[in-house]
Amino acid sequence: MAARRDDRFATAPRVTLDMPVQFLKGVGERRARLLRKLGIETALDLLYHVPHRYEDASTITAIAAVAPGMDVTVMGRVVSKGIIPTRKGLRIFQAVVRDATGLLEVSWPGQPFLDRTVNKEDVLLLTGPVRFYHGRQLQPREFVNLGAEDSGSAQGRVLSVYPATEGMTAKQIRALVELHLTALLQLVEEHLPDEARAEAGVAQLAEALRMVHHPASVGQAEQGRDRLAFDELLFVQLLQRRANALARVPRRGIVFTARRTLTTQLRESLPFALTGAQVRVLREIVADMCSPRRMHRLLQGDVGSGKTVVALFAALLAIENGFQAALMAPTELLAEQHARTLEGLLAPLGMRPVLVTGSLGAAERREADQRLASVAPLVAVGTHALVQDSTRFGRLGFAAIDEQHRFGVEQRAALGAKGDGPDVLLMSATPIPRSLALTLHGDLDVSILDERPPGRKPITSALRPESARERVLTFVDSQLAKGRQAYIVYPVIDESEKTDLKAATTMHAELSAGPFAARRVALLHGRLASEERDAIMRQFRDGLIDILVATTVIEVGIDVANATVMLIEHPERFGLSQLHQLRGRVGRGAEESFCILLGDVGQEAHERLSLFVATEDGFEIARADLRMRGMGDLFGQKQSGDATFRVADLLRDEALNERARELAQRILDSDAELARPEHGGIRAMLRARYARALELFRVG
Ligand code: ADP
Ligand code: MG
Repeated sequence: MAARRDDRFATAPRVTLDMPVQFLKGVGERRARLLRKLGIETALDLLYHVPHRYEDASTITAIAAVAPGMDVTVMGRVVSKGIIPTRKGLRIFQAVVRDATGLLEVSWPGQPFLDRTVNKEDVLLLTGPVRFYHGRQLQPREFVNLGAEDSGSAQGRVLSVYPATEGMTAKQIRALVELHLTALLQLVEEHLPDEARAEAGVAQLAEALRMVHHPASVGQAEQGRDRLAFDELLFVQLLQRRANALARVPRRGIVFTARRTLTTQLRESLPFALTGAQVRVLREIVADMCSPRRMHRLLQGDVGSGKTVVALFAALLAIENGFQAALMAPTELLAEQHARTLEGLLAPLGMRPVLVTGSLGAAERREADQRLASVAPLVAVGTHALVQDSTRFGRLGFAAIDEQHRFGVEQRAALGAKGDGPDVLLMSATPIPRSLALTLHGDLDVSILDERPPGRKPITSALRPESARERVLTFVDSQLAKGRQAYIVYPVIDESEKTDLKAATTMHAELSAGPFAARRVALLHGRLASEERDAIMRQFRDGLIDILVATTVIEVGIDVANATVMLIEHPERFGLSQLHQLRGRVGRGAEESFCILLGDVGQEAHERLSLFVATEDGFEIARADLRMRGMGDLFGQKQSGDATFRVADLLRDEALNERARELAQRILDSDAELARPEHGGIRAMLRARYARALELFRVG
């Protein structure tokens, strides 16, 4: 400690963890701008920008030993390359690579653009099946361009692959991390008390970060990852417990009475009968709301299980007791969709929901705000605009949070802090095992909707090889000819020199010029401004667009009954739960729907995807996903919308979470305000990462 503070060495500009990344050597203004897109503002952010994947160069096959029929990882230097046209008009990029043992032909059909980025002398790390085609030919499923690096330097170790962005490649990010890793790690301070860390069985923080960025083996990377996941779980546990403690202690809940006026009217005017599961869950919710205990309940139900109407019944119970109710959704589009649904369901009761989003005009917003601030019973539907400081409720008695995992702990707590200490219902389609939900959300109660509304046609799912592409596209077109709509989903927005993945942007151009020239095709991805995204989704909803070429941004809650086809390319790049969410976007109307996974996948992926194709049970799929997810995919592909966890995964980390829960409890039992010096490190981390939530601990 003392040595590091020695001022005799203070002449050189010193690297600090909170310094803007721009001032790190090798960054500068332009790169700083690009890094900001990845959420990297400071040196610390760079240190926490962890690889999302590892290429294991320690299991490389010598080229001489490669034979047709094998699935291999090889590393070789490009000795020649070029584009080969075929008679069918397909252009193939080919390269010949060499290692110490021999030469191998590598072929990328349909990807001539790679010629721009793969150069002679570049070293490539390639993974994929080997075919016999005028000799041995590797068709990479994936590859990493190591550039002109000496192939020896990557041999025998694991390569970290970082989330990248246009203009800043994964390789450049890796180089940047390597350049600064040692210096930055020296600045990292352990925030867990030694004893607690030892008991939890997790690695020391600086060591964990080293293992994550620069592992000697995939096992090491996992050890490092576990520590980072543990921290996230611990922090959330601490915040959650504290929020619960504060919410419970000063205010008991509102005691509602089941008057059976509005709720009965709704039941009688509904166009369908409630399922048995909905009735059971509602009984649990009503009992909670009528008790003096404040409700804090998680409603879990697979996509399409009918959570919205359950929330509406609870809202009406509050309203018939003279209170206001709120339903918060993660996007404007979803909020609007809920508002429409509620408009339809409430019309027979002579009521209208109040919509509150950021894009309301000033006059509309003022009117909405005034109504909320009054004590008039109403149901408000909105985005996080509902929890802004400026939004006041006159008499909020019930709050439901849809897709609750998309909100941060702070936002959830903020809605619960509005009005009169409302009863809170969290809703989620992401199946978290009950035990885990309990530990994660403290003393949360859980209700499960495990039954689907009747009369739903099953969705026909299929996995099709690349060779069936034409037939699949023809099939999609036949659905469009019937007036239906389709989604086509890609794992990435742009093509990149690092991988050979088809990307939404390029495929949008290709599909709308070729196979679907006669159709209205639109492109949707996460880099569009959210207003633009919503505008496109509205057009799709209104039938003005036939095909939506998209990334996973369409995953959450969108309900377009006329969309009957979900076509997913590179399905191996998605987790099963993610595929399940995507599949849930179709099968919402009376027409038969289809989910088609298109692509040649390796054997392991084939097994995984076959399981997905065979079942529609979201819980079963989530468990299988957890069981089978490969080690190379250690960090998963986290959705940027997931506000709570970057590294931790509730399903995968059940055991870690249990340890985090125990530690959080022990810490808060002895030091409820985190005021003791030995908890200073934890407090500082919370302050840095969850700034708003820290109000809960009333510390500066
Ligand atoms: P999710 O749980 O995914 O949020 P929704 O609440 O959006 O599901 O419901 C999906 C669809 O099912 C909606 O169109 C809704 O009107 C309908 N629905 C809900 N409950 C029933 C029911 N008991 N019988 C028939 N349809 C229902
Ligand atoms: Mg929903």
